[in-house]
Amino acid sequence: TVRTRFAPSPTGYLHVGGARTALFSYLFARRHGGQFVLRIEDTDLERSTEESVNAILEGMTWLGLEYDEGPFYQTQRFDRYNQVIDELLDKGLAYRCDCPKERLDKLREDQMARKVKPRYDGCCRNRQVDPDKPHVIRFKNPADGVVVVDDMIRGRMPFNNAELDDLIIRRSDGSPTYNLTVVVDDADMGITHVIRGDDHINNTPRQINILRALGRDVPQYAHVPMILGDDGARLSKRHGAVGVMSYRDQGYLPEALLNYLVRLGWSHGDQEIFSLEEMVELFDIGAVNKAASAFNTDKLDWLNQHYLHHAEPSRIARLLSPHMGRLGIDPSTGPELADVVKAQAARAKTLAELAEISAFCYQDFEAFDETSAKKHLRPVAREALERLRAAFEMMAYEDWNPDDLKRVVERVSEELEVKMGKVAQPLRVAIVGRAASPGIEETLMLVGKEATLRRIDKALA
Ligand code: GLU
Repeated sequence: TVRTRFAPSPTGYLHVGGARTALFSYLFARRHGGQFVLRIEDTDLERSTEESVNAILEGMTWLGLEYDEGPFYQTQRFDRYNQVIDELLDKGLAYRCDCPKERLDKLREDQMARKVKPRYDGCCRNRQVDPDKPHVIRFKNPADGVVVVDDMIRGRMPFNNAELDDLIIRRSDGSPTYNLTVVVDDADMGITHVIRGDDHINNTPRQINILRALGRDVPQYAHVPMILGDDGARLSKRHGAVGVMSYRDQGYLPEALLNYLVRLGWSHGDQEIFSLEEMVELFDIGAVNKAASAFNTDKLDWLNQHYLHHAEPSRIARLLSPHMGRLGIDPSTGPELADVVKAQAARAKTLAELAEISAFCYQDFEAFDETSAKKHLRPVAREALERLRAAFEMMAYEDWNPDDLKRVVERVSEELEVKMGKVAQPLRVAIVGRAASPGIEETLMLVGKEATLRRIDKALA
């Protein structure tokens, strides 16, 4: 059966590039009825933090990328790695090296001067090195021949063994190195398909050689191109948010981010909207672009707006609540948040924006939006507002319903012999602060009688 993994190093948050790699691995496993494993590659003790582990787990949960096994932690598997290293030593497939730093530095300088790729010269391959003195252990890479990486995205990539180093697999402090731990884990965990960032391409032939030396199965590889910022440079903090949780904090929905990420470098006809179930059904790793793709916030916003509009209002209300809180609004002091969502969700790109444009339902605004006020309220539409106010004041609270409210606005526009907009727009600006809001009767419902009268008075003052 198919088994994939996501193997982040916990040295930062879960960024969008990692999330997309995780998504592709997840989809591939689900697509083929297989399993998806989460492995935390925390062997770099200096750079790995528990905070980052938590951020990664939180990001996976938020995105709904459920794993079948894990999280496994590499720091808990050192005994196993050492066992494998010893096995390689015993079989003569690895060797101790005590070349002093000065020698290695000199070697590198000479090679650079000769314009050849710096590479360890295998000096210790046939020497006896005292195991009790400081040393590293190197893998005995095949001296010649070609390793072919048959990549599911990039196709055939041959590498000459002559260009590959005798890689260090155990440092002098006894700790195993990245290429060794990955290989042992991928083999032990039965990983059949390694889907990862293309920054690992150069590691792949080395890893294949180690797997072969160990007599283990070589998985299939797919190297996913990186994500660029809109300026063509590799996506980084400079481009703004890159951690998935900061997208949550700005009010993006996980399904919107997933939909955005799956379309980044992959397409299915001209379909833009994919539920997770559809992605599982349709995703094809072989159809992923070889070229890097640029992150486009407008597109993400467009998708998020779509999902905000189409999601269950009560769920959006629940997610919106903290965003209202940030504006100092307690949503229990006004209309049902779900009603606000129903009226407003199509107008906002994010939950933060939705909160902002819905604040008027709960609190009086400080100032009119100048453009809206100039267009619709100045000089003040006194006649219209006064008539509306008088009519609203006469209405009993139980008559404060959309039909009656609409009738009032219609009547006033008939009395004044003007189009409805000439009445509704000044009213809207008066009670919302700006010219954009849901239908006027819906808006009046959300604002309520008391605040409507109070705000009209303020506009007239
Ligand atoms: N831990 C590696 C990283 O975060 C990934 C290794 C792999 O996927 O093979 O870049």
